[in-house]
Formats: sequence, structure tokens, C-alpha cells
Amino acid sequence: MAGKRDYYEVLGVNKNATDDELKKAYRKLAKKYHPDANPDNKEEAEAKFKEVNEAYETLSNPQKRKMYDQFGPDGPQGFGGGAGGPFGGGNGYYSYTSSGFDGFDDFGDLGDIFSSIFGGFGGRTSRKQSGPRKGADLNFHMDITFEQAFLGVEKEIIINRNEECSNCHGTGAKPGTSVSKCPECHGTGQVRQVQNTILGQMQTTRTCSACHGTGEIIKEPCDVCRGKGTVRKQPKIKVKIPAGIADGQPVVLRGEGEPGEKGGPKGDLYITIRVKKHNLYSRNGNNVTCEIPISITQATLGGEIEIPMVDGTKEKYKIPEGTQTGTKFVIRNKGFKSVTSSAVGDFIFTAIVQTPKKLTREQRDLLTELAKTMNEQPPIKKRGFFG
Ligand SMILES: [Zn+2]
Ligand SMILES: [Zn+2]
Repeated sequence: MAGKRDYYEVLGVNKNATDDELKKAYRKLAKKYHPDANPDNKEEAEAKFKEVNEAYETLSNPQKRKMYDQFGPDGPQGFGGGAGGPFGGGNGYYSYTSSGFDGFDDFGDLGDIFSSIFGGFGGRTSRKQSGPRKGADLNFHMDITFEQAFLGVEKEIIINRNEECSNCHGTGAKPGTSVSKCPECHGTGQVRQVQNTILGQMQTTRTCSACHGTGEIIKEPCDVCRGKGTVRKQPKIKVKIPAGIADGQPVVLRGEGEPGEKGGPKGDLYITIRVKKHNLYSRNGNNVTCEIPISITQATLGGEIEIPMVDGTKEKYKIPEGTQTGTKFVIRNKGFKSVTSSAVGDFIFTAIVQTPKKLTREQRDLLTELAKTMNEQPPIKKRGFFG
């Protein structure tokens, strides 16, 4: 399709951009062009916003990015065909994952011979089924904070997907007109053929050229969707993220993917959760770990310290006298909830003794007095050196 800008150009990154760079560029642009943020020139912003979303959708998925790098913005020649090529309908690369070898259409019968010998390639066989077909699954990701992962959160995400055209209710036919069975293939979408090949005579089936395999003929296509039955939308989806979700874990929303075909169920929406790093806490299984600084007097004499918990509360904890730096303390059941069971992790903190770098005159005098009573190097044990 003409006029399609290069996805890297859309995001303003170079071809070797890392995932992080892509994400950064995408976030900046998505914020800038979000229709809600541009009330004065909503239409233009919306168009840009869509463009940015589409570019990121493709480039953030390694498989789609590879395809894009290999075949360029117009997609592989002949892929998809029909409604203005793969991008004409705004399908992005989603269609490639489900029917990646439709390109064989260009080889005509050869593709069909391959299919009948090898049992079909990828989605090709499913395309031939004229019955109901489940819609494609969609993949997105979402960034959340450590605290949100700990407590759970409900967030909104804007996704790109096809939705049933409300004008024709998904039939693709102009309201008031009807869809009729293809007379060429009698609604099966396929035509049988006997052929002589290098492997002998074979009966093959090929996609009906009259209806492009749909088995239906639309005489008067719907003006809104141009006969596709679906339109591209950017719906906002509410996503409930359960407490305890881990980095890289997906949240699956059944039925929120692409619409099915011929009454088939909708695909699913997979949202991979990425948990941002926290500067105080880390996660280990369901346990929360962190380092808590203590003073030399607290370490030596013991004392009550306040521990900031992930949920924002404070927990009082008595550390014993003679606490060594690096000692781990456990507060039971204050870690992450398990998403799959009723288990709860622990909160484990490591006491780190802070040696003072600056002392007041009074403190220095007191320490000097103390030093006089114990100014002797402690005995060196082997363990002290090699752990
Ligand atoms: Zn329509
Ligand atoms: Zn047909």
C-alpha cells in the first residue's frame, strides 16, 4: 500500500533499536498523540496514535519484526491478497501468524499440491475449512510497578483489533442485501481437480477463485467494512491483574481477541505483565527481599527498628544485640500471595551495618573512650576471609 510510513521511522528509532528503545519511543509518542491529550486536533492525533500503535505492535513482537525486516512495509508479495494487501485492511501482521503460508496462492496449483502431499502448511488448511473458525489470539504487554504486582491492580489498556462491523453485523453485505452461496464451489470454498504431476496423477483441491475460499458471494458489499465484516478498532480494555503476579506472567482475557469467522468464537487476548524493578525490594519466588541499614549501636546493643513493607505499612522488628552485618531476618507471611494457590511468601530483610563516616566531636570522644577498652584487633578466623 502506498503512503505507508516505515515503522522504524514512525517510532523515530533506528533499525537496530533494542526492545527498550522501542518501548521508550513508543511510550513517548503514544502519550504525545493520545487523542485525549489532543482535544484541539483530535483527528490528526488519532491517526498518528494509530500509526504509532501499529508500528509498535509489529516491532515489539520479535516474530513480526523479523517478517517486517525481511519483507518491508508492504509485506511479502501476494500475502493475503484481496482487500488491498495485508495492510490494506489494517490487519498488521496478525494474519501472518495464523495463515502464514497463504502466499502459496501465488504459486497456484503448486501450493495445493504441496498441501495435499504434506498435509498443508500452517494455517493454510484451516483457511480451507469452510466451517466456523476461532479468531486469532492477540498479544500485548503491560508494565506495572512492584507494588501493583504485590497488591494487584486494575488497569486499562488500548489494543488494536478487528471488531464485528455494526453496519452489516459482520456479514459483509450491505444492509438489506444478502450473502449468497457461491455457485462455483457450492459454498465449500474449494474446487477439486485431477492433475498430472512428477509424483503421478493426483487429485488436488484448490481454493475457489470466485469466492476466494469463503464459499460466499457478496453482491453488494457493506460500505463501512467493504465486505470484510470487520472494522479495525482501538478499544480500551479493563485488565484485572491479580495480586502476586510475577514478571513475564500473562493475563489471559478469553474472547477479547480477533473475531471468529463464520460464527466461530473470538480469539483470546494475552497480556504479558512486566514488573518494573524496585529500588528497595526484590522478589525471590513469593518472598520479598530487601536490605535494611542499621547503625553500629543498634547492631551492637540490639533495638527496635521500623521496616517499610511493600504495602506501605511499617512493621516494628526487634533485632538482637550483637547482630552482624548480612544477617537475614524473616517476617512470616508478608511476602507475595501466590496467584495459583493460597500460599503466601515471607518478607526477608538483610541487616546492613552502617559504619559512620562523619561523627560529631561528642560522638568521636565517646568512641575513643570505647576504643580504649577494646582497641585490639579481633582474632582472624579462616572463615572470615573465605566465607
Ligand atoms: Zn460491514
Ligand atoms: Zn466459491
